[in-house]
Amino acid sequence: MGIFCKIAAMFGFGSCDKEETSTTNDQSTKSAAQAPASKAVETAASGSKKYVLIGAGPASVRAAETLRKADSSCAITMIGLEVESPYSRMALPYYLSGMIEEQGTHLRKSDVHFKDLNIDHVHAKVEKIDAEKNQVVLDNGDVYDYDKLMIATGSRPANCPFPGADNTGVVNCWTIADGREILDTIKPGSKVALLGAGFIACIIVEAMLKRKVDLTVMLGRTGQMVSRMMDETAGGMIKSWCEAKGVTTILPSSIKSIEPGPALKRDDDSLTEFDLIIVATGVYANIEFLEGSGIETDDGIIVDSALRTNVDNIYAAGDVAQGVDFSTGGQSVHAIQPTAVDHGRIAAVNMMGGSANYKGSLGMNVLDTAGLVSTSFGSWGGVEGGETATLLDEENYKYVRLNFKDDLLVGAITVGRTDYIGVMRGLIQSEVPLGEWKEKLTEDPTLLMNAYLAQSLDIAR
Ligand SMILES: Cc1cc2nc3c(=O)[nH]c(=O)nc-3n(C[C@H](O)[C@H](O)[C@H](O)COP(=O)(O)OP(=O)(O)OC[C@H]3O[C@@H](n4cnc5c(N)ncnc54)[C@H](O)[C@@H]3O)c2cc1C
Repeated sequence: MGIFCKIAAMFGFGSCDKEETSTTNDQSTKSAAQAPASKAVETAASGSKKYVLIGAGPASVRAAETLRKADSSCAITMIGLEVESPYSRMALPYYLSGMIEEQGTHLRKSDVHFKDLNIDHVHAKVEKIDAEKNQVVLDNGDVYDYDKLMIATGSRPANCPFPGADNTGVVNCWTIADGREILDTIKPGSKVALLGAGFIACIIVEAMLKRKVDLTVMLGRTGQMVSRMMDETAGGMIKSWCEAKGVTTILPSSIKSIEPGPALKRDDDSLTEFDLIIVATGVYANIEFLEGSGIETDDGIIVDSALRTNVDNIYAAGDVAQGVDFSTGGQSVHAIQPTAVDHGRIAAVNMMGGSANYKGSLGMNVLDTAGLVSTSFGSWGGVEGGETATLLDEENYKYVRLNFKDDLLVGAITVGRTDYIGVMRGLIQSEVPLGEWKEKLTEDPTLLMNAYLAQSLDIAR
């Protein structure tokens, strides 16, 4: 288990991706790499099923391995636009902080893992899906036929909100290539500006402080940090924690543009020079190439509980899929790795004709910002007609917020406490009725473990 998997497991991200072993090493299908360019690529002996997976991240890797485990003769083609072996973006901060080497970000240890499983990993960009012909078209002109297709193209960083993001020294933190550029540029004492204060930005803060850089962080519009996963109290605590660690915070309204240097042009026209500016101002699902395919999209690709899109034989998984949301019953993009891995497995089972249903992903964030761990689960902001109990010790950076609907725990936030993570997730996801414990928890939220044990045992009896 890699270091980031250990950390994920510790915080209750149970499905940090693990290797699926193959039942076969069958080499009967023809490798796409041997096929000439600009023509239809043969991938399978006649009669064998052809599965094409777009993307080579955690969702596709899990899908490919699930398919191979169940069917030794099908053709599996996994198409990803990056040149690297499949890797985890989630591991990038650990690479940046020096906890792991680049190899440690790879989803599978062996470089020949996919070759051994006869999973064809093609490095190219998919430009178009022709759903009528059951074909995908790549930017190199190659065309792949499919019986079943899964789209797992993930997301990408949102455009920088200021002009000048194309200046040298301005980077995202999204790919291994970005990671290399950041590490090549910074050294202890380097001046780094981080534009953004969301989930990913906060993880980068941790890595940058470990590298001992002089860090400036641009807050969200409201002056808050992690406003999309934490309430004002929790966001305020994280901000003051960072400031106490020497981080300078600035508001977006104080920035006019990015100038060569790179430098930030401030509202008074002064220039502040940096060695590096990292842009982390949000993400978008990679869905543009689906135009004209007939596949229904919103924030992501709309999928049902079997991960099927509205078009026959086409499924979607991971960050690009807008699937069932456990808390609301509606559809949301939950751009976290455990959801991507679950999606990949379930989509694969259904592509093979099985019947697996996704119960819905629980919005769940565990964040370590320069040593201060904060979490949010489910309906963290509360629900209409619900009730909320809080316990706050601002001075010591400790906060618990519990949100109830009737006698169910439906959402929670913690700052500075890791002892409730598993219990909170369990109570919310298992929808354990709290009965009389709801009143007790309202008076003292620290009784969570007692409530969990009492009510779960009650149900077991
Ligand atoms: C810095 C950082 C830290 C993170 N930390 C966490 C964390 O702590 N916990 C957590 O749960 N999640 C975290 N995440 C999010 C997590 O990495 C994603 O949820 C996960 O990678 C989603 O997997 P995926 O397979 O859906 O997409 P991705 O991993 O994004 O993979 C998408 C794949 O599609 C390919 N692709 C895109 N477009 C095309 C195209 N047109 N043609 C061919 N290939 C294409 C890409 O090259 C890539 O191979 C973090 C992300 C980042 C960037």
